[in-house]
Amino acid sequence: MAQVDVFSLAAAITALLLAVALLVAYAINRRLKAFVWWAGSFVLLALWLGTMTLRFGMPVGWIKWFSWGSLYAAACLVAYGLHHAGATRTSPIGRMLACGVLFLITATILTLLHARPHYWFLIGPLPTLVFMAWSAVLVYRAGAWAYGLTLSIGVATIIMLQLIHPGGLARALAPDRQPAVLRGALGAGSDPGQAIALDPPPPMRGLLDFTPPPGPHPPVEQPLTATLITVVALLTLAIALVLRDMLAELDRMRERSTIDAMTGLLNRVTFEETAAALLREPSARPVCVILFDIDHFKRVNDTAGHAAGDRVIARLGQLLREMTALHQTAGRVGGEEFAVVLGGSDPGAARVFADTIRAGLSASDFGDEIGWGVTLSAGIAMHQEGESLHALMARADMALYAAKKGGRNRVITQDVAEDRPRHARQINLAASA
Ligand code: GH3
Ligand code: MG
Ligand code: MG
Repeated sequence: MAQVDVFSLAAAITALLLAVALLVAYAINRRLKAFVWWAGSFVLLALWLGTMTLRFGMPVGWIKWFSWGSLYAAACLVAYGLHHAGATRTSPIGRMLACGVLFLITATILTLLHARPHYWFLIGPLPTLVFMAWSAVLVYRAGAWAYGLTLSIGVATIIMLQLIHPGGLARALAPDRQPAVLRGALGAGSDPGQAIALDPPPPMRGLLDFTPPPGPHPPVEQPLTATLITVVALLTLAIALVLRDMLAELDRMRERSTIDAMTGLLNRVTFEETAAALLREPSARPVCVILFDIDHFKRVNDTAGHAAGDRVIARLGQLLREMTALHQTAGRVGGEEFAVVLGGSDPGAARVFADTIRAGLSASDFGDEIGWGVTLSAGIAMHQEGESLHALMARADMALYAAKKGGRNRVITQDVAEDRPRHARQINLAASA
């Protein structure tokens, strides 16, 4: 049987398991597209680690090609995934191809020269390093610092791997230096974890039909530690990035479900939840609700078009956003209907608020398309002890209806008599225009 590094084998299996876990997560939530790219690169990393498992002293050249090729392909996949996720503006295809050519040239030269294994260790990952460094610069330039950091750590750990691997730089600099013992390797006649006298090891044939070269093999601890550090560092950062993206996506989803896109105000459901919470807050009393409705809005749409109508809605939303402060919440509760709940405001203060918004909209310039001053009507109601939000809004709506009836472009406050009114005709209405 071929000699197998148990640690790289474990790292390869871990990488495969993580790839499966990422794919399962993607199957559960299809929005996590980035997981597919990371999973693909982990499969390739597992291939790389798996082939690292087999000793490089073998005469079978294609294993070396396959090993470094899969490392390079894993880097390409991550870079392409980052581009897909918007981390780079320019496509990585050109870089991938350029480094692919570099990989083919490097591997061909090494094969033709019958380069010794440590040259493969030193030069084999060169295209991967060039590619990752090249991509990292672009990612940093695009401002995606976390992704850039991941790539940089990848580059740094691969370099570290080469520098400390006894089959790499150490052996290239001192080719005659031979490590004394081999430990932690499984092989014919070897006992894992135990120091083995290596003088001379018996020739072996087996898996993938290769024969380890005669002479002692380097100890496996350092390269395996470096390999594991590489995998763990990249995995940790990948998981951190994916978590960060998931949280950002959750934030976006929450925003989409709570905020009205056209005005930036709360949507109806969220407005009602926030307003109901404010009504339960004793420190916010007195509380008033104002309902706004744009006057003759159908005419705006019919004469100036929907886009112009949208601009009017957006402008009113902007006025409300700018005017609302702590304990004040504004929402878009219908097409061109808005509501504000004001904590710590009596009807007088609410009227000042509503009149300011009314004046602000009247003074807004919507260009020549809308050839008249757009106005709005508003109805105010003050919250009564024990009253539900629904009942409070209904009273504000009655006041709004009265404002429309009274000629529009005005604010009406619904003044509650001592007995709670049940019918519109029982309500005293105070108007301002
Ligand atoms: P009134 O003064 O009585 O309020 O008259 P009005 O024409 O404004 O009547 P109403 O309030 O019922 O008009 C609502 C119109 O708002 C109907 C609908 O086509 C339009 N609308 C609703 N949502 C949007 C939107 O998002 N954009 C645009 N442009 N129009 C909208
Ligand atoms: Mg309306
Ligand atoms: Mg209207």
